[in-house]
Amino acid sequence: MSYFKIENLEQYFKHYNKSVREPRKFWGKIAEENFTWYQYWDKVVDFNMATAEVKWFTEAKVNITKNCIDRHLAKRGEKNAIIFEPNNPEEAAQHITYNELHQRVCKMANVLREQGITKGDRVCIYLPMIPELAVSILACARIGAIHSVIFAGFSSSAVASRINDSECKMVITSDGGYRGNKTIDLKGIIDEALESCPSVQSVLVAKRIETPISMKPGRDQWLQPLLDQASDNNVAEIMDAEDPLFILYTSGSTGKPKGMVHTTAGYMVYTSYTFKNVFNHEENDIFWCTADIGWITGHSYTLYGPLLNGGTTVIFEGIPSYPDFSRFWETIEKHKITQFYTAPTAIRSLAKESLEYVQRFPLKSLKVIGSVGEPINEEAWHWFNDHVGDKRCPIVDTWWQTETGGIMIAPISFVTPTKPTYATLPLPGIQPVLMDDKRNEIEGNQVVGSLCIKFPWPGIARTIWGDHQRYVDTYFSSFPGKYFTGDGALRDEVGYYRITGRVDDVVIVSGHNLGTAPIEDAINEHPAVAESAIVGFPHDIKGNALYGYVILKESGESRDRENLIKEINQIITDHIGPIAKLDKIQFVTGLPKTRSGKIMRRILRKIAEGDFSNFGDTTTLINPEIVDEIKNNRL
Ligand code: ATP
Ligand code: MG
Repeated sequence: MSYFKIENLEQYFKHYNKSVREPRKFWGKIAEENFTWYQYWDKVVDFNMATAEVKWFTEAKVNITKNCIDRHLAKRGEKNAIIFEPNNPEEAAQHITYNELHQRVCKMANVLREQGITKGDRVCIYLPMIPELAVSILACARIGAIHSVIFAGFSSSAVASRINDSECKMVITSDGGYRGNKTIDLKGIIDEALESCPSVQSVLVAKRIETPISMKPGRDQWLQPLLDQASDNNVAEIMDAEDPLFILYTSGSTGKPKGMVHTTAGYMVYTSYTFKNVFNHEENDIFWCTADIGWITGHSYTLYGPLLNGGTTVIFEGIPSYPDFSRFWETIEKHKITQFYTAPTAIRSLAKESLEYVQRFPLKSLKVIGSVGEPINEEAWHWFNDHVGDKRCPIVDTWWQTETGGIMIAPISFVTPTKPTYATLPLPGIQPVLMDDKRNEIEGNQVVGSLCIKFPWPGIARTIWGDHQRYVDTYFSSFPGKYFTGDGALRDEVGYYRITGRVDDVVIVSGHNLGTAPIEDAINEHPAVAESAIVGFPHDIKGNALYGYVILKESGESRDRENLIKEINQIITDHIGPIAKLDKIQFVTGLPKTRSGKIMRRILRKIAEGDFSNFGDTTTLINPEIVDEIKNNRL
């Protein structure tokens, strides 16, 4: 019996139970049957949760690019591996077959070797969403260099701190990038960053926007001439299963970004398996994940997951609002996308706009639609379901983290019945537990607690680069013997999980633990409300009280504020109870968000508390200017 693909709910439970009772057999069989290895493993898994040491497929030898590319060539050489959709829809899309991808990756790998990059070296990749980004990542993996992709929206100081943290030897960048009707001076940002990055010896520059840039002699080189001269013959490096594949910094919603280290074999097996099942991937699918490859979602599901399955993946350079708010829908239609995977923040921002943008397109090619990054509120879920999925496509609300490598709790499309705002059931191999404040496991259903995982899975990050102690402290010490996710969750009457937000965001009001996500969910139901964020602030009597920041829809702008406040609190009372009513409601024009689109609640918490002294690292904010507006109008 093969465990790679789950066909129905009964089989899900069968596989799940097998994965818990006999994880070694379960993952061993999946690994053996679905990948190409130079050498098999001694042990499927070897771990110690106290010291946070986890190894999968010990002593096995493998190269992930052989599995992403080479092994598909015989059967799928002329199949599209990548479809590149440029920022400007008038510019022709590019179709890159597996044969072409193989050739490009081999050439790039040879260029890297010629430039002195060897196994174990760190290479920083700071590129827009263009094919060179995928090619550079895969070229690193091919020669065993550790890629550290930094989202090409980060400022020079954020880039410098990440380059220095992992001591990158090389930077791969471009002359610039397009973003809607703007261009971004990526090379200028790198030049500034590198003033304080002594480890970087060379910079390779891809051409994208063709505006003049400065090239530092002895350090900077144009990429294309090097590629033109390179051979397309390349022997992949033989990697140990546990050799690091990449470093990726978490998005920084909660504090100083952590350089999570993912290793080769476990990550490969886990992303491939989860991609196949959650999205029900079939041979002729065209998969589109809108996340930038600079985030884990892009690593695992724009790049590695689809390619490991011999799929076709779309790399989209643009933004949802350019040239207008129909861009996503137009692109789905244009490339006949079958799976569309995006984030609640994108869904909410598009749901704010006229329905005509989406209704213009039949979107008949779609079969599965997905969400990741934040809890998806009920209103956004229904909008997505009604107008994009046409009530026909299952919505996979996928809960996971940079640290987990791949999706952890999510419906398996066409297998797990969905439920709005619920990530539903754990994937095989994932053993979630809810813990109370006394570190006891909470048994049974209809309970809430801190979400932990009690057994390692192949995709778990192995460490924080250069700081294993921080890794132990952050994830393995709050609940000894378990991996602590930092998130809170609710388990409903049938065992479905709903993520209630980060545990740090739980506010205790008059002794009641209130997760922020369900309250925001309720508020967002109000027809005049576009988006909201709730935090706690100290209160003499209740201990804590709730402070709400609310963005109104255009249609709500003219409404009487006093009435709105009453109505919002009434909705909260109806959905959750009077205990969750807001003491203060501040109407704002925007919320501070990370570059990955998440609300940065710790800043909102500080403002609510009236403490303007230390907002921590704000370099990951996309809209720092909003902080002043909110501060100045604090209630
Ligand atoms: P940092 O760890 O630096 O604060 P971050 O947690 O935002 O940044 P990511 O690893 O990108 O960085 O995000 C993972 C987090 O996103 C999860 O821990 C969870 O809080 C939230 N999340 C992701 N997907 C979902 C989902 N489907 N439902 C609810 N929350 C989600
Ligand atoms: Mg996190």
